[in-house]
Amino acid sequence: MRKPPEEQFLEQCREGLAKARALLDELLAGGGQQDPLDTYNKLLVGAGNSGNLAGLMAEVHPDDPIRDAARIVEQEVATFVSELHLNGELYRALAALDVARADDDTRRFVEHTLRDFRRAGVDRDDPTRARLKTIDDELTRLGQQFSKNLAEDVRSIHAVPSRLAGLPKDWIDAHPPGKDGLVEVTTDYPDYNPFMAYAEDDELRRALYIQNRSRGGEANETLLREILALRAEKASLLGFTSWADYVTEDKMIRSAARAGEFIDRVWALARERARRDYDELLAELREHQPPAAAVADWQKVWLETQVKKKRYSVDAEKVREYFPYDDVLAGLLDITSTIYELTYVPARVDVWHPDVRVFDVMRAGGKVGRIYLDMHPREGKYKHAAQFNLRDGVTNEQQPEGVLVCNFPRPTDGNPGLMEHDDVVTMFHEFGHLMHHVLGGHQKWVRQSGVATEMDFVEAPSQMFEEWAWSWDTLARFAKHHATGEVIPRGLVSDMRRADKLGIGTQTVQQMFYAALSLDFHTADPARLDQLEELKRLQAKYTPFAYVPGTRFHAGFGHLVGYSAMYYTYMWSLVIAKDMLSAFDGRGLMDAATTRRYRDAVLAPGGTKDVAELVRDFLGREYRFEAFERYLAE
Ligand SMILES: [Zn+2]
Repeated sequence: MRKPPEEQFLEQCREGLAKARALLDELLAGGGQQDPLDTYNKLLVGAGNSGNLAGLMAEVHPDDPIRDAARIVEQEVATFVSELHLNGELYRALAALDVARADDDTRRFVEHTLRDFRRAGVDRDDPTRARLKTIDDELTRLGQQFSKNLAEDVRSIHAVPSRLAGLPKDWIDAHPPGKDGLVEVTTDYPDYNPFMAYAEDDELRRALYIQNRSRGGEANETLLREILALRAEKASLLGFTSWADYVTEDKMIRSAARAGEFIDRVWALARERARRDYDELLAELREHQPPAAAVADWQKVWLETQVKKKRYSVDAEKVREYFPYDDVLAGLLDITSTIYELTYVPARVDVWHPDVRVFDVMRAGGKVGRIYLDMHPREGKYKHAAQFNLRDGVTNEQQPEGVLVCNFPRPTDGNPGLMEHDDVVTMFHEFGHLMHHVLGGHQKWVRQSGVATEMDFVEAPSQMFEEWAWSWDTLARFAKHHATGEVIPRGLVSDMRRADKLGIGTQTVQQMFYAALSLDFHTADPARLDQLEELKRLQAKYTPFAYVPGTRFHAGFGHLVGYSAMYYTYMWSLVIAKDMLSAFDGRGLMDAATTRRYRDAVLAPGGTKDVAELVRDFLGREYRFEAFERYLAE
């Protein structure tokens, strides 16, 4: 009898983990012929392969039982890695190695590995290690529950059809009234975003906004209280004042205090512009409600939509006619192969769904990696856009393999699958991560492979590569009208850019409000923290929009689980992205000398150097704020 597919999958998925366990035993038994460091590296590769495959399949496999099986292996790998870092015997074996005369990468690998162990608490006494293990397990469980509550807590409002004025026809067609004659509008993205942008009914937008900002509710507030308390306890056991200090220690920013200074610095740079943005929205609001004294948070997006249409005459419907899916993908492959000297050769391999396209990435006649593109929506699949690792590249062991998981329109017979320009930007952004993974995936030590720099830098290469989807020079290579073949007009692209700048001030201060919230929740004494009061205080300090009674944003702020204190990361990466982009000033984005220097100085080294050094190698100087300041001011 044949085994059920999920059992076959479990076996295949656990292969790497089983290998890792065997190698760990071998390493601890000692006396073998193998170099312990090499064995440890192979062990990490094995566990990583299992974890990567499980992490991907949990999000993309079309069959429910396989997705469930993948989640089981994900947890097994998490437990294995957590126990590994608290294994004193292993730590002592690695710490005893003499690498004084080894090469730079090897010394860095050992230094960082031992630091990982110490940061996990390996050198603490037995009761402390036991408590740390319990805390880790508890935090995993509470975090999963927080995210699950959020995924399941979809809320809605109900409206008579006559109150849906302003919404696009395809949205209204997709929302017929129910038996009670009312239309249900949920807090899911495809309902919520168009509703907040287009619905003329102010009262309904307010009602939906309150529903959305109440998701997670008191249940998540309670979970968050437990999570914050456990994180604070862990930080204290490890000798830190706060979780924020603990988690930033090995990042570029180094400390909670410096993260706080960064947030306030960006806020100070953006607040004048935010005030102007706000006044523009208030003027627009007064055309609809003459006595209005303030713009409410639920009015912001709708008012921006009105101003963009009037002032910048950018019609999103017209823009998408230049972006049929197949042309955009072909353009993206053409651009990256030109700037990085690559070719993409279609590969025939077994995949999890017929939609998935696979390419071998070639350079100078040799294969340097493999990419998988899973680009269209289907039931049960991950709902956002992200890059997943399938294999981390290790020299003489395995080549890097990465996967793009997105939800773009699917071209069919007679329908070119026209993309919103926002989606085009997203495709370039995610492909930026993929290039970093592949080009940086040729290292001896897996801990340095691909996107392996300090975590607060990882968005920078992708944020920088978004520019290739905004410049007329690069767009003109592929953005042609789907019916007439006309190249996207230069004037339209500059109008799009100007319209995109509207609201940049209010968006930036809003981001700094979120960053301050994420940092303050992890700095405060959890026993004294009143979450809602702290949120109100920070919102009033950082943004021009007042707190809306009845909302509880922090209970639905998913980043508090994954990023904890480090939401500042997005803006920190953007500062460096804008700085690196300045190297192309006056040369153009296709300048081969600059793109190749960037490839070799920033992407190819993976995590073999600190970011500050990578950026110095590329720019010939330390990174700085000026380019970001210009971007905010222009
Ligand atoms: Zn990203």
